[in-house]
Amino acid sequence: MKTVFVDVDTQIDFLFPAGALYVPGAERLLPAIARLNHFAAAQGIPLISTTDAHSEDDPEFRQWPPHCVAGTTGQLKPAETLVGAGQIVVKKQALDVFTNPDFPALLDSLAADRYVVYGVATDYCVRCAVTGLLATGKPVSLVTDAIAAVSPDDGARTLAEFTARGGRLTTVSELIEIGQEACPTPQSPALPRCRNLSARTEPASGS
Ligand SMILES: [Zn+2]
Repeated sequence: MKTVFVDVDTQIDFLFPAGALYVPGAERLLPAIARLNHFAAAQGIPLISTTDAHSEDDPEFRQWPPHCVAGTTGQLKPAETLVGAGQIVVKKQALDVFTNPDFPALLDSLAADRYVVYGVATDYCVRCAVTGLLATGKPVSLVTDAIAAVSPDDGARTLAEFTARGGRLTTVSELIEIGQEACPTPQSPALPRCRNLSARTEPASGS
């Protein structure tokens, strides 16, 4: 089964208390996000990292405080979440990554059998991402200990809506333990590296 990881908007402005649009508690997710991203890189699992990349007078700022303006520190991803050439960064100017016209073609090229989603914020951009990914008809898992919501109630509603539509909830340790079982590291003496998890590494042509 070819899995694709989708790391949603884990950017400085969302993750840290001093960020422009801090998601409460999000800084505590950083070790989990880093672990998942590095696990994906080590296992050859394609990793999509979506990022807000706004202009200074972006229409979204009529509803939200200015955040993740292209060229600012707040728009960057923390170093711990960066894993190198195989990481496909998809920029967007709206909550929903599917507003990037290149995103559906990227998904087609990756030909995933399953998506694993984590990041921020559960009740906004993560919600948009999982809704669109479920609509592709492929199984989607949400990593409950690697997401944070703006509003706890809306976050809980998002999870209920997601599972009602057939989404599955998982955890970091469940993914990593199962992943290692299904795909031992190349150093493992008796077993070859899983071929079905090999990454396509062409960069995204994000707008
Ligand atoms: Zn935004």
